[in-house]
Amino acid sequence: MHELTIANSLVELASAHAADNNALRVKAICVRMGVLCGIGRSLYFCFEPASRGTLCEGAKLRIEEVPLSVRCEHCDDVKVPKALYNFRCPDCGYPTSKVVSGREMELVSIELETAERAASMQECPNAGEARNAI
Ligand SMILES: [Zn+2]
Repeated sequence: MHELTIANSLVELASAHAADNNALRVKAICVRMGVLCGIGRSLYFCFEPASRGTLCEGAKLRIEEVPLSVRCEHCDDVKVPKALYNFRCPDCGYPTSKVVSGREMELVSIELETAERAASMQECPNAGEARNAI
């Protein structure tokens, strides 16, 4: 998946959320991104042009990186592999394909600037839907 597509989806979702809440603009967007998505800083660069001319223009993008962790059947525990794409238990060496975290890509929150200056953090009510939509 391309970063620009993701940036456009984020801008679309956040702008719709801002419009629904009669906000003046979007102040910040926070997303959680698993390391396996392979998307990092480039999303920051795509976000700015994608947000131009929308309610998201000038908004801050915060990316929270989620580390990789797998479930080892042998140890019956959640472990953190030594390297990315090395789906083996670091303790017993048992191969595992059960990724617990590191694949997620979800919209965590959208911060809006409203006319009443109630510049509080607003949880995105559609976080579940948003996750699928990105
Ligand atoms: Zn193990």
